Amino acid sequence: MAGEKQQREFIEKISPFLREKIEEIKIKKGENSEDYQALYLQYAISGKEKEQSTEKNVRHWEADVDIESHIHGIERLYSKSVVIEPTMVCAAHCRYCLRANYDIFTLKEDELINIAKFCGSDNTKRQVNEVLITGGDPLIVPKRLNYLVEVLIEYAPNIKIIRIATRLPHHDPSRIDNNVFEIFKKHKDKVDFELATQINHPAELFPETIEIFDKFRKMGVPIYSQNILLKGINDNIKTLVCLYNKIREIGIEPHYLFHCVPMRGMHHFRTTVEKGLRLARELTNSGKISGRIKPMYALMTDIGKITLYEGTILEKNKERNEIFVQSAYKYEDRLKNNTNWKLPKTAEIDENGYLRTWYLDGED
Ligand code: SF4
Repeated sequence: MAGEKQQREFIEKISPFLREKIEEIKIKKGENSEDYQALYLQYAISGKEKEQSTEKNVRHWEADVDIESHIHGIERLYSKSVVIEPTMVCAAHCRYCLRANYDIFTLKEDELINIAKFCGSDNTKRQVNEVLITGGDPLIVPKRLNYLVEVLIEYAPNIKIIRIATRLPHHDPSRIDNNVFEIFKKHKDKVDFELATQINHPAELFPETIEIFDKFRKMGVPIYSQNILLKGINDNIKTLVCLYNKIREIGIEPHYLFHCVPMRGMHHFRTTVEKGLRLARELTNSGKISGRIKPMYALMTDIGKITLYEGTILEKNKERNEIFVQSAYKYEDRLKNNTNWKLPKTAEIDENGYLRTWYLDGED
């Protein structure tokens, strides 16, 4: 299992690098400035996390793959890819983290071998050709990450693309040293690497952070960023336009713009899906950002990611503040991908075998 199901104490953790940056901005721009608030609110623990709210989930979805009872750190929802979590440790704790309630672990080498064998097994290799290595922050454990890449190359030659998700360039760029860059250099002829990051506000693009991204780009590693729509941090068009234009300037591709996931402790970060739609519409249909960086606005529902297109929202239940959304995920495919997967209580199967689910909305 990838993690325990109870809510656990997600302690406040702010790296010394981030503390210094937050302090610098406070002195330079003041506590009420947008930049200070954007950083402070992302990392400082808030009393609002404990307030009663309609968000009850402690996981964003259930997708653990039970290879053997003692193996955890692997999830699969989709046909083409597998998610691997070699560690749950991060240099800082983002207060809206999806994995806030996962138990903390770092996988051992034998566990990584089993995961690699699963990725290369007859059943998996027919469909899967890429993995997302996430966590936690995999760049925090370079030796373990290197080992994982090596065993994937050995046991799962079907894996052609390795995506590595990190926020270390924002949390503690000095930890990204030659040990980290070596992993990418050493194996680049065997697999294609991509670096995934998450940038929620332009104030997070510190010079040291940009320098790290630059080094990856010069090594030929493509970088993409997904971000979360966070109330009070980036839920306005001016900030979003600035954010997307900045990431374009430094050569980072956009990926998803997520509505903040309905999990316990996140209510204060969650605006409405409708507001997100309005912002996404203005962001993508106004000519204010390059056509090359238009993000996909998506929900993280109990059945997986659903990008909002016309006809995706089927109905709204105002009393429960929920929306009913249509996916194109087939129930039978889901079971083939992950035999442990169970239909969540919020979901149903339509007459064509596709999954639909209720999704708890946020508030303005
Ligand atoms: S870096 Fe990623 S995994 Fe770590 S706390 Fe932040 S969002 Fe969560």
